[in-house]
Amino acid sequence: MVQPTDGRAPAHIDTTKASIARVYDYALGGKDNYEVDRAVIERIRAVAPEVNQFALDNRAFLVRAARFVATRTAITQFLDCGSGLPTAENTHQVVQRLRPDARVVYVDNDPTVVAHGRALLEDNELTRFLAADLRDPGGVLDDPTVQQFLDLDRPVALFQVGTLHHVADEDGPARIMAGYLDRLPAGSVVVVSHFFDPENDDSELARRVEDLLVHSPMGSGYFRTMARIRELFGGLDLVEPGIVACHRWWPEGPQLTPENAVQRCVVGGVGIKHPPQ
Ligand code: SAM
Repeated sequence: MVQPTDGRAPAHIDTTKASIARVYDYALGGKDNYEVDRAVIERIRAVAPEVNQFALDNRAFLVRAARFVATRTAITQFLDCGSGLPTAENTHQVVQRLRPDARVVYVDNDPTVVAHGRALLEDNELTRFLAADLRDPGGVLDDPTVQQFLDLDRPVALFQVGTLHHVADEDGPARIMAGYLDRLPAGSVVVVSHFFDPENDDSELARRVEDLLVHSPMGSGYFRTMARIRELFGGLDLVEPGIVACHRWWPEGPQLTPENAVQRCVVGGVGIKHPPQ
């Protein structure tokens, strides 16, 4: 992150309010965060010592899903909503390694991401960054950046990874997703991950972490049930193994440590929009 040399935050960054992107960056082990962001994670660590696993499993899922789309489908257009701050393996790096012609548009509305991410994420002619609110599918899809850079008559991979659990019920996350899915042509895929309330013994952890997140200076982080998360995919068919704990979605190999409750409370899946019968 570009910072004044005396260690203070840049003037346009409000360091009294935690940022989703910077809290996530801290959980991933990044350096682009402030005390207010780190405090959110440290408060959760008291009830969930494995708190970083939410971010680590979520990000590893994004990378595997991106590789899946790039290798197992013919899709070369990616709309990555909620890019987050640049990290080790950004979507364009993962997919362009496999499909050098792949185009990626990132969308985010976090001031830190907009200020510093744009320069780092838009690092070649096949990658663009759009500062926009992902809760407005029409605004995103009709923005000139998307219209000029992606061909919405051809299949697109829509990523909503770690984003929709920051969208409040009153904003209608399923309705927002329908706004995207209705516009995407057959053959498109959608990749979603989300905080999960398993409606079993792990629900207590989900509720406690949700309470800490929603009442933190970050202000969001909703754990939803499987039925609510399935709604986000609309009527799309799910690729095997369906919506599962992120670390169980086509893992690289067996996990050598026991699964913990945090890992059971973040799920992901990939849906495919087939042509109408
Ligand atoms: N997708 C990345 C990943 O999974 O590794 C980053 C996930 S991070 C937890 C969520 C990102 O979504 C943040 O960068 C945040 O700024 C962005 N975000 C949250 N709500 C948003 C909104 N309404 N419009 C645009 N971006 C949003």
